[in-house]
Amino acid sequence: MTPLIDPFARPISYLRVSVTDRCDFRCTYCMTEHMQFLPKKDLLTLEELDRLSSAFIRLGVEKLRITGGEPLVRKGIMSYFRAMSRHLESGALKELTLTTNGSQLAKFAGELVDCGVRRVNVSLDTLDAAKFQAITRWGRLPQVLDGIKAAKAAGLRIKINTVALKGFNEAELFDLLAWCAAEDHDLTFIEVMPMGEMGEENRLDQYWPLKDLRARLAERYRLTELAEKTGGPARYFRVEDTGQKIGFITPLTHNFCESCNRVRLTCTGELFMCLGQEDNADLRAPLRASPDDALVEKAIRAAIARKPKGHDFDYSRQKVAGQMTRHMSHTGG
Ligand code: SAM
Ligand code: SF4
Repeated sequence: MTPLIDPFARPISYLRVSVTDRCDFRCTYCMTEHMQFLPKKDLLTLEELDRLSSAFIRLGVEKLRITGGEPLVRKGIMSYFRAMSRHLESGALKELTLTTNGSQLAKFAGELVDCGVRRVNVSLDTLDAAKFQAITRWGRLPQVLDGIKAAKAAGLRIKINTVALKGFNEAELFDLLAWCAAEDHDLTFIEVMPMGEMGEENRLDQYWPLKDLRARLAERYRLTELAEKTGGPARYFRVEDTGQKIGFITPLTHNFCESCNRVRLTCTGELFMCLGQEDNADLRAPLRASPDDALVEKAIRAAIARKPKGHDFDYSRQKVAGQMTRHMSHTGG
């Protein structure tokens, strides 16, 4: 089988699957308080998600990240993880992982480990309970901290993802770093992105460029850039004084597009070839048209042949250009 290679000679080895658009939180930068969620009939069933993910794995995808919405609130989701674990056992899949808000980890950590998951990304923007409630609207910090504890106890490696928000978690930068060092969690900062219709002003108010965050860190610590590349928008630095590795995700820069190895599947079967472009391919129709996978494989290849060179985000001149109308909870970030 010929592997998936896009028109810019980039092999596609990484698939992010959003298994639901729903969530038990309403983070202000991600969702509005009263979200309209998709009707159930539009969602791929867990069996369809299995079929589609398996088709990608057959075509060379080696890394699968499950996301959402909140992946762990989808009913029966463990049967999907269980199904994907067979590809780990066969060796076709090298890594099965997820991005979660942590609220359900206390319940599912053991089962995830059983399914071959070794690492999880947990999103956490603050260690202050009141601020946590303010930013997530519906979330409760102790529940998430319990989830993280349970995940660690179950043997999962944890990476904390923190969205850098000006005036919100600026003052907590060193506390977050110290907490992660004490708990032996990795830490990655994410620059806030122009997603959904959240109100342009509000978003620009919250924009805290990671170069400023890094300069702040450098006032206290020696940072060394690491050569490590992931094919994604993350760059890694070592904090020499503590030995910690810190990631910086700046999705608005172009300098990672050249090595982009990933595509994103939504819970309705749309394939987004670039996080920053609207173009997508419907894989649900070919999937449902025939129990045979020939149609869907053809559709996947046709979509990869359309993968664009890069995205159009730009925050320059205080104006958000290339702004996306879809929410992160749709494509899973
Ligand atoms: N619910 C899970 C979670 O929060 O980890 C998974 C889905 S969430 C959409 C994936 C990641 O996207 C989270 O780390 C979240 O902080 C991030 N995110 C959401 N909206 C964002 C935005 N506008 N800019 C940057 N990151 C965003
Ligand atoms: Fe839910 Fe994750 Fe979006 Fe927060 S960032 S609202 S936890 S999907």
